[in-house]
Amino acid sequence: MGRQNTYDVIVIGSGISGGWAAKEFCQKGLRTLVLERGRDVKHLKDYPTTNLMPWEFEHRGEVPYAIKEANPVVSRCYAFKEDAMHFMVKDTEHPYIQEKPFDWIRGYQVGGKSLLWARQTQRWSEYDFEGPARDGFAVDWPIRYKDLAPWYSYVEKFAGISGNRDGLDILPDGEFLPPWELNCVETYFKEQVSKNYTDRHVIYGRCAHISNPQQIHLDQGRAQCQGRNLCQRGCPFGGYFSSNSSTLPWAERTGNLTLKTDSVVKAIIHDSRMNKATGVSVIDAKTKRTTEYYARVIFVNAGTLNTNLILLNSYSSDSPKGLGNEYGLLGKYVAFHNYRTRISAQYEGHKDFKTDGGRPTSAYIPRFRNVKKQETDFLRGYAAGFGSGRGIQRDYDGFGEQLKENLSKKDLGPWTVGSHMMGETIPKETNYVKLSDTRRDQWGIPQLSINIDYDDNDEKMVKDFIEQFTEMYTKAGFTNIKTSDSKQAPGLDIHEMGGARMGHDPKTSVLNKWNQLHSCPNVFVTDGACMTSTSTQNPSLTYMAITARAADYAMTQMKRGEL
Ligand SMILES: Cc1cc2nc3c(=O)[nH]c(=O)nc-3n(C[C@H](O)[C@H](O)[C@H](O)COP(=O)(O)OP(=O)(O)OC[C@H]3O[C@@H](n4cnc5c(N)ncnc54)[C@H](O)[C@@H]3O)c2cc1C
Repeated sequence: MGRQNTYDVIVIGSGISGGWAAKEFCQKGLRTLVLERGRDVKHLKDYPTTNLMPWEFEHRGEVPYAIKEANPVVSRCYAFKEDAMHFMVKDTEHPYIQEKPFDWIRGYQVGGKSLLWARQTQRWSEYDFEGPARDGFAVDWPIRYKDLAPWYSYVEKFAGISGNRDGLDILPDGEFLPPWELNCVETYFKEQVSKNYTDRHVIYGRCAHISNPQQIHLDQGRAQCQGRNLCQRGCPFGGYFSSNSSTLPWAERTGNLTLKTDSVVKAIIHDSRMNKATGVSVIDAKTKRTTEYYARVIFVNAGTLNTNLILLNSYSSDSPKGLGNEYGLLGKYVAFHNYRTRISAQYEGHKDFKTDGGRPTSAYIPRFRNVKKQETDFLRGYAAGFGSGRGIQRDYDGFGEQLKENLSKKDLGPWTVGSHMMGETIPKETNYVKLSDTRRDQWGIPQLSINIDYDDNDEKMVKDFIEQFTEMYTKAGFTNIKTSDSKQAPGLDIHEMGGARMGHDPKTSVLNKWNQLHSCPNVFVTDGACMTSTSTQNPSLTYMAITARAADYAMTQMKRGEL
């Protein structure tokens, strides 16, 4: 083993979870190698569109038709626009197999999807962790809210999370910077909902934006969010949390970070005599040459499905079905969030106000179905967003003089309001990913074959969301209520989770309570692949907390000589 290829820790992937692992290990003095399959993206320097005006884009922000046609999957993502499409994987470059329709949205570069995310961040509650045990699905989580609570606080302080302390047991409060304001119609709806229901709440959306910088943010070189709402381009103020603006530069400053880009991890190397992983095998994305790197501990943070792929591809004569797959569980019990359904309406009041300017979040309605006991004919529940706006409705019809005339009309019309459902789906053995037997990518790695679908529970939840939100909107005096079910494929929620779930028992789970592979304790998985169930909250804050907790444990074990 070449000394120059040996580190204390290897982290696979530099996105949200990998960035946290890198920061934790580097700041405690461990020589850390981060392997990233994509190119480097340096904060500020590599945000080519960040300060462009709308008219400076060749296609005025739209994606040219030919690109859309060639990339039907990624084109379905709302963020795939001219200003950020360079941060998103094109379908043609990284093919995968859809046994059933699955829109796999990816960002292969330093920072991963942390550059692109919508930055909504809510903690899980005790009700979420006890969900599978109480409702009898999946397996029991081996951790509870109390295990993660201090780690939520830890990552929130550093990342910068804005929010209001609402005192709700279903959505615990965090270490918040001041919240963003609701507008007058959102406040009106909040009041209406609390007047009409005791168990439903409309709160300020919690998000990873610095509303009031603290010293720890200034130390990262980050400043106050300007409400530009152009986050997906990369923020010149570091106003929102990304690995690029926060955890990775922090890790780099310690001098302990080695970041290797264009490094596609093919597999983890396993020594069966020692029952230990010794390193990873990496293919150079450009030259296709293979190199091996070695470390005492390996953190797999390639993003849920790629983490599954790497583990499945880490087979040997001792683990012929992949590392951690002794009981055939790896790649199974994948779940996601059901984002199919929307409701919109109009509000005729408050016509003396309008909206102007930007803000990075809107209102949020935590889950209220089946929270403390089973009340409906479906399991679990849904959260929802709520937003309202009233701006000039531009009429782009016509050409020349007609167009000019249409554009100069200043008709504000009524307020529009809308919500989207964020439903929990149930992890099932039949929702799985596996390696293709026949198709490989350009680096010779088997392509991922994805078989994930909705079920009857999801259909019932969609129906309930429509009924309950129609009732809530009607009670609030909203009119012209319209509902829609996009029937979008799983994946477009970009919250895929599971495949290497945590649990107590090696026969029914892949990871233990510290995110170590039951069968190979120096390999840790702390991205979405570890999730036993999905709850309804946006998941990334939980990945951050789980990663920081597991890294702390790994370092304690390393010090004791256990790893
Ligand atoms: C438009 C959009 C909106 C979103 N909104 C939200 C939101 O509001 N709230 C929320 O919580 N989440 C949101 N998400 C999801 C969020 O981005 C992900 O949950 C989060 O980035 C996952 O972090 P990760 O570290 O697991 O993976 P990623 O951030 O995807 O990083 C994985 C990294 O691993 C690298 N990699 C993959 N395979 C290999 C390999 N074989 N070798 C080496 N490197 C590899 C990738 O290139 C990538 O850089 C959103 C995502 C998108 C795209």
